[in-house]
Amino acid sequence: MATLYRKYRPQSFSEVVGQNHIKLTLEYELKSGRLAHSYLFCGPRAVGKTTLSRVLAKSLNCLNRPEDSAEPCNHCQNCLEIISGAALDIIEIDAASHTGVDNVRENIIAGARVSPSTMKYKVFIIDEVHMLSSAAFNALLKIMEEPPAFVVFVLCTTEVHKIPSTIISRCQRFDFKKISVMDIVHKLDYILNAEGIAAEKGVLEAIARYSGGHMRDAESVLGQILALAERKREDQLLTITVEQAELVIPRSSLTQAIQLIEMLAIRDSGNAIRLVNLLVDDGYDLKTFLNDLIELLRQMLLLKINPELLPALGVDLGELITTQMLIVSEKINSTWCLKALQVLMPVRLAFKDTIFGQLPLEMAIVELSEGGVSKPTPVSPTSEPILTSQTKTVIVESCQPVPPSLGVSVSSNGGVVPFESTGALPDLNRILALWSDFISASKQASATLSFSLGVSRPIAVRGNKLILALKHKIHQERLAQVAVKSVAEEVLSRLCQTSMLIEAVLEEAPEILEVVEPVVLAPTASPANDPILDEMLKTFGGQVVG
Ligand SMILES: [Zn+2]
Repeated sequence: MATLYRKYRPQSFSEVVGQNHIKLTLEYELKSGRLAHSYLFCGPRAVGKTTLSRVLAKSLNCLNRPEDSAEPCNHCQNCLEIISGAALDIIEIDAASHTGVDNVRENIIAGARVSPSTMKYKVFIIDEVHMLSSAAFNALLKIMEEPPAFVVFVLCTTEVHKIPSTIISRCQRFDFKKISVMDIVHKLDYILNAEGIAAEKGVLEAIARYSGGHMRDAESVLGQILALAERKREDQLLTITVEQAELVIPRSSLTQAIQLIEMLAIRDSGNAIRLVNLLVDDGYDLKTFLNDLIELLRQMLLLKINPELLPALGVDLGELITTQMLIVSEKINSTWCLKALQVLMPVRLAFKDTIFGQLPLEMAIVELSEGGVSKPTPVSPTSEPILTSQTKTVIVESCQPVPPSLGVSVSSNGGVVPFESTGALPDLNRILALWSDFISASKQASATLSFSLGVSRPIAVRGNKLILALKHKIHQERLAQVAVKSVAEEVLSRLCQTSMLIEAVLEEAPEILEVVEPVVLAPTASPANDPILDEMLKTFGGQVVG
């Protein structure tokens, strides 16, 4: 189990997780034959740079690759040699241990002057290229300026600022990004499916968050959890429990942090202090809890300033936690967020020096609950669930009618003016084509509505009803609320030019399993040839695994 990363290393473009912008360009170049001689892959570690280099090397040399496809066959002699690491014409160099000019002359320049032994292209994959000395870079530059036709360089680095500009200007540069929690969860889910193992709710998201956007780390953590869990159980392991996961990764307190913010927002200091003490009794680390609390408040502040900031600047919390956060954030405003951050930051910074345990946090809670005037509610024995009836009322009220700029007419009394239906009923392909427009139009009506739509999957159109599948009950319930649903239906109807209804169902509902095959993880799908899948990938990011 410890080698999940090797066992499930992507072998084709469609299997590589995330990095869609890079894959699309490389695939186009391979199909059109317009290849560069030198590529620069830069970005954080463990996000797929070397993996994509090897897929590129295979596609360049695959004996069976059709002209209209970028994918290697993974079965021909060349593909198999490259997969096994035995290909003489694919030269992988770790620049961290070969920094000198002599190494570049011996390993790269001398090699690049000799034709490939069996393959069409000699591919030099130079990892950690920023470690080369300046003399070594100069030597490399000479061969990059006039490369033999059969040579392709792929330079990989985590520190692009250390690469001389003369080298950068010779390369086609690709900036790799950290992989989103949702993409990592999809890959981990795929691995578990293949291994015949399930995981309790929230486990995979917790692993993905802990890995910080690094795929290899996530797979390694999953491997460790499986190894430990298997050792602890004699019977066959069928489900990874939260307890087993917590043997390897720190217990997440994000859900409790959201609960605390909600209690503070309704000035329920009694239950808030009780929640903090329950966490201490349960052995949670208060420093981590405060970190989570501050990150969540920061994200809520960004959300209040401009929802567009969140994906760009916020830490990726995953689908479930983001939804909970969006719901609670509708109860507070930016001034309150700012005040809470101003009160909690010093508590966190002073935490290591305090000998009074949770007292500073309790004092902050009292301060945030209006100078200690707490709500006279009885303290409940356990923490309240996030979705109280009160929360639901707020959500419904906060879903404003769509502004006229979106193409939806709003009458003077705020009601939505009925429109004349002019279009024919759309089919699923038409819906998929409109999908990104639909999500951006609904974003202007409500950020949470747009988020819920973003994590849903259009799976069927029955008459004028669009069926959306959602993985989590919290999203499904949200989209099923009358006020939310009618805004979504209104936006959709305008886009489709005909009256449309929406029905939100859970992914695991038995009737849904019969309706559709899962698109994102379909093992046989070919994204290069499938317009529907292309549209799905464009809208959701993500990848096809398997
Ligand atoms: Zn092949």
